Amino acid sequence: MTDRYAVIGNPIQQSKSPLIHGMFAQATGQDMEYTLLETPLGGFAGAVDAFRAAAGKGMNVTAPFKLDAFAYATERSERAQLAGAVNALKFEGAQVLAENFDGVGLVRDVTHNLQRQLKGRRVLLLGAGGAARGALLPFLAQQPDRLVICNRSLEKALELAAIAAKQGAAPGQVLGCSYADLDGQTFDVVFNATSASLRGELPPVPATVFANCGLAYELAYGKGLTPFLRLAQNAGVKRLADGVGMLAEQAAEAFAWWRGVRPDTRAVIARLSVALV
Ligand code: NDP
Repeated sequence: MTDRYAVIGNPIQQSKSPLIHGMFAQATGQDMEYTLLETPLGGFAGAVDAFRAAAGKGMNVTAPFKLDAFAYATERSERAQLAGAVNALKFEGAQVLAENFDGVGLVRDVTHNLQRQLKGRRVLLLGAGGAARGALLPFLAQQPDRLVICNRSLEKALELAAIAAKQGAAPGQVLGCSYADLDGQTFDVVFNATSASLRGELPPVPATVFANCGLAYELAYGKGLTPFLRLAQNAGVKRLADGVGMLAEQAAEAFAWWRGVRPDTRAVIARLSVALV
């Protein structure tokens, strides 16, 4: 029997997940279907109940339901607990297992696809929303020399730094700051995990942070050369990347979790990449 999966969100028509998982299923010979599940706000639990009753096996979860999925789950991974948000569910009888693969997908894209290491590096993370939160534990596992989390609302950056300390970060290894504090600091890798690029905006990051930077990474994808990437390019950064690899890698993690086989992501990344110009 064909196993059923879906991505739930609102809006959801723009989602690339059916294409991605369809390509993975074909490449790995898995008998599964993967559909879009557009659900009204407030309708998350009812929609998931119905999907499970119809023998659904698992789901990806996207905005605005990542917190609803967290509440709905019966078991949450450490990553999901730390992120406070869930982007993948697996249904096993009465159990609802919850995961957050965004951060591991990001790290895998950087270390495996882009062949850049975070170990021993000075890393700047712009933003302290859901994506930054999800990246925190996977980043720490890479043992950066310094991780600076910078956010417009300073308290959220400080909160993430405090979580990192509780997770075993060395004193001073992870710091929260505001944009004004970045003057005079330089970083080996800079991530834009703000949502500014979705509106064509630039977070107020000084170009000087890129002085010795080997990689500028924009988590948004499909936007071409965003204002953040343009700033980095003009500052001399040679390697620019957007979040298409992160998208493919988090999907591959979910696929492996559900199906027990990890698909190769190269064809998906090639299909979805847009030029950074
Ligand atoms: P959230 O809404 O949870 O967080 C948004 C963050 O952006 C906050 O830290 C907010 O700061 C900051 N921000 C928004 N506008 C500005 C601005 N103009 N200047 C400075 N800071 C700003 O969003 P997510 O964390 O879910 O998403 C962040 C980005 O990551 C998006 O671009 C999203 O598309 C991308 N993403 C990519 C994925 C992938 O697979 N490639 C997966 C998930 C996300 P404040 O707290 O002060 O409001």
